[in-house]
Amino acid sequence: MGPLRHLRGLNIVDVVQGETRKASVTVSSGRIAALDEPPPENAEILDLDGCWATPSFVDMHAHVTFEPRIHDGAITFAFDEPAELGALRAVQNLTEALRNGICLVRDAGGRQSHLAAAKRYLGTGHLLLPDLVTSGEPLCRPDGHGSVFGQHLSPSRGIGQLVEEHAASGHEWLKIMNGPELWHEPELAEIVSSAHHAGLLTAVHAFTPEGIRAAVRAGATTVEHGMVADPELIAEAKERSTAFVPTAYCSWISLRPRFTRTQPTSEVAILDYWYRYLDECRPPHLADGLPVLPGTDAGCAPCTFDDYVDELIRFERWGTDPLEVLRNATIRAAQRLGRAELFGSIDVGKWANLIVTERDPTAGTTALRHPALVLYKGSGVVNTLGERWP
Ligand SMILES: [Zn+2]
Repeated sequence: MGPLRHLRGLNIVDVVQGETRKASVTVSSGRIAALDEPPPENAEILDLDGCWATPSFVDMHAHVTFEPRIHDGAITFAFDEPAELGALRAVQNLTEALRNGICLVRDAGGRQSHLAAAKRYLGTGHLLLPDLVTSGEPLCRPDGHGSVFGQHLSPSRGIGQLVEEHAASGHEWLKIMNGPELWHEPELAEIVSSAHHAGLLTAVHAFTPEGIRAAVRAGATTVEHGMVADPELIAEAKERSTAFVPTAYCSWISLRPRFTRTQPTSEVAILDYWYRYLDECRPPHLADGLPVLPGTDAGCAPCTFDDYVDELIRFERWGTDPLEVLRNATIRAAQRLGRAELFGSIDVGKWANLIVTERDPTAGTTALRHPALVLYKGSGVVNTLGERWP
């Protein structure tokens, strides 16, 4: 996977230590073979004097088999086509992810058949695409949000059986919809603990105070779309190490007219409520140091993987130091997905996934918008270096 390369003159964003330093990077067979060692014989030498290298990003919330694009002003939020089409969409969407410097994606829900077909493609090893962690079909309330592509409990299929089957299908996460329609708190707690018992991690979709409170109390691994303001709940979330994926840029872009004019008034009212609630929770949530991890909601119209850096910029505008934003976007997210051994930082033995920029990303994440070079598993997937590329 890619030749032996030696990248010289870089400033590395060390997200593990939380600092930047000068280092050279040697890449071999797609992995980082050495840091700050002399170039091996036969290595291609790449002079990147004064450039910056950031570890590639992790997207905590996407729907890779969905179609997020707007055609002629009309929204196509498609999830109901033949599985083969869903799989091709996953390839298309993940190609965009790669171009945006994303190396690892958690899919937050899609049709089982589509995801299985997508995984067959990715599993061939012929496609150079970000690694994918999946949540399968979300567990929904009867007729609740997400029901059109979700799964349900029934008298013949209780939670114990559902989570066993879900885990056996190769999913690592169970997504549980808890809003606008809510589970009773004890029901949600039972679902979450059954999932954990089956070895699954849990992502609870919640954007109202009641929904988020129940998610935190149930012990959800991550809360999707929500943040918390209530001091008692903040303390509980801290104790349980709950992580939050606010998908904040998504909540902003979803209120732009080019999308809202395609939506029924009832849906726009929900989007408007969500945006305002998130905005209200944000100051106490961040002041107390609760984690926020970036997620685009790519695939769920109108969001795409092109929004990733916008999510980082949003976190930064909230007053979070850019280096902390980058640690959340890389190592902390990779840890949360159980992938930190190979992803999330520029360290020996990990995949050579890095984003090279002319400007310092720790001075402002906008520096990451148009990278000079993106390496994924050692291959240049974005490259505007021109003559500097050997
Ligand atoms: Zn979503």
